[in-house]
Amino acid sequence: MEAKIDLPEVWKKARLLLKEQLTEDIFNRWISVIQPISNKKDNITLSVANDYYQDWLEENYLPLIQNAIASVTGEQFSVCFEVNSIDPASAAGIDYAEPDFSEKNPINPPPPIEKVPKKKNLKPILNHRYSFNSFIVGPSNNFAHAACLAVSESPARAYNPLFIYGGVGLGKTHLMQSIGNYAYESQGMNVCYVSSEEFINQYIDALQRRQLVQFRNKYRKADVLLIDDIQFLSSKEQMQEEFFHTFNTLFDSHKQIVLTSDRPAAEIPDLEQRLVSRFEWGLSVELEQPNVETRIAILRNKEEELNLSIDPLIINYIAENIRSNIRKLEGALIRVSSFASLTGTDLDLPTVENLLSDAIDQEKQNTILTMEDIQRLVADYYDIRYTDIVGKRKPASIAMPRQVAMYLCRDMTSYSLPAIGEAFGKNHATVLYAVRVVESRLKEESSLRQEVNSIRQKLAKRV
Ligand code: ADP
Ligand code: MG
Repeated sequence: MEAKIDLPEVWKKARLLLKEQLTEDIFNRWISVIQPISNKKDNITLSVANDYYQDWLEENYLPLIQNAIASVTGEQFSVCFEVNSIDPASAAGIDYAEPDFSEKNPINPPPPIEKVPKKKNLKPILNHRYSFNSFIVGPSNNFAHAACLAVSESPARAYNPLFIYGGVGLGKTHLMQSIGNYAYESQGMNVCYVSSEEFINQYIDALQRRQLVQFRNKYRKADVLLIDDIQFLSSKEQMQEEFFHTFNTLFDSHKQIVLTSDRPAAEIPDLEQRLVSRFEWGLSVELEQPNVETRIAILRNKEEELNLSIDPLIINYIAENIRSNIRKLEGALIRVSSFASLTGTDLDLPTVENLLSDAIDQEKQNTILTMEDIQRLVADYYDIRYTDIVGKRKPASIAMPRQVAMYLCRDMTSYSLPAIGEAFGKNHATVLYAVRVVESRLKEESSLRQEVNSIRQKLAKRV
């Protein structure tokens, strides 16, 4: 196919289409910087300022861009990107009459990574125990682990920002600090680690002492900025504004940003949309609860690290009974071993059961109900089939219990809206709608309140 087109004209129209499809933020950052270069046969070459843009666009927006061009031309072109630091738009005299983003998106390629440690930077405040070596990998965390490794090997080139989320004690801080330790130890980078609470305190302090410039410099000159538990920025408007600018400064100069949170960015309450969207630019990875094999491996590793010698039966007992939190798992091991060394007795299972009874009771209270537990019990309660609860049929006799089940999943488990949606074959918006409907009906209808309470009690007995 020989398709002769007026490329600047086509790109102008395709841009307009893309502008309609994307948020302003994403359009401005990723699309407006693209320049058309050439068109040969069924191929179009577009140019971007550096390989960071190229990788990102290829991975995330290529189909969308190809579709936009196809809509304009009526022909399918394959699109490729080329890195070109000369501004071809000005050379070709193209004027999009758009704001100039070149200042925000410097055309310098990211500086080459120095592999040789320089150690000119101050040692970051990191816990040395937190390294990739001491992190046990299993199905609950292998994706997050791989992403963190990739980021530590090529900061700002692999995924930026990297957003790690998951429940308490599942290894977020450990992984984040492993990135920091690696980037400092092997590449001599300037690594800045701070919890978001500390970040907020330092900011308030800087405001009071009129030392905002120093505060900004400290964070904006980091090569790798690690902010732990970013969910605490919730509702802190002025802090969010400040962090927004720090984020942009670092991102625009190709510095790595890593964030952790106890939930996905979109679920952090009262977090500005522009921050949510930035947090989602890179890669989000979840840490899940480890399975029993991983828990055993973590305990064995800890046993070795602390030079302990514990009966494998006891290790298994701890791993089987403490599931939800690795910090507690380690705590149980230490409790048991210190008892043994303090009393000089050999440990047996009844003693261990006794020592850990409080921790295990607490664990039972926290044991996570599965969504299937809820779906089955609600189906049972309303005398409908389980397959109806998770199916597509819409009669009110089914739709209402399904909404109640979604509401209870939201209320009684820590699953995210998209995860709940998936369990019901629906999207997150449907779940949110169901939750709101049930919440407002619960305020009005005492009969529904009684039903939901009685389902809750039955569910509570299960765990
Ligand atoms: P979070 O920040 O998610 O609350 P942490 O990173 O503080 O959790 O982890 C809690 C404890 O569990 C730490 O001592 C950490 O070293 C340990 N830990 C977590 N995950 C692992 C793992 N996969 N392998 C070894 N230790 C782990
Ligand atoms: Mg933590």
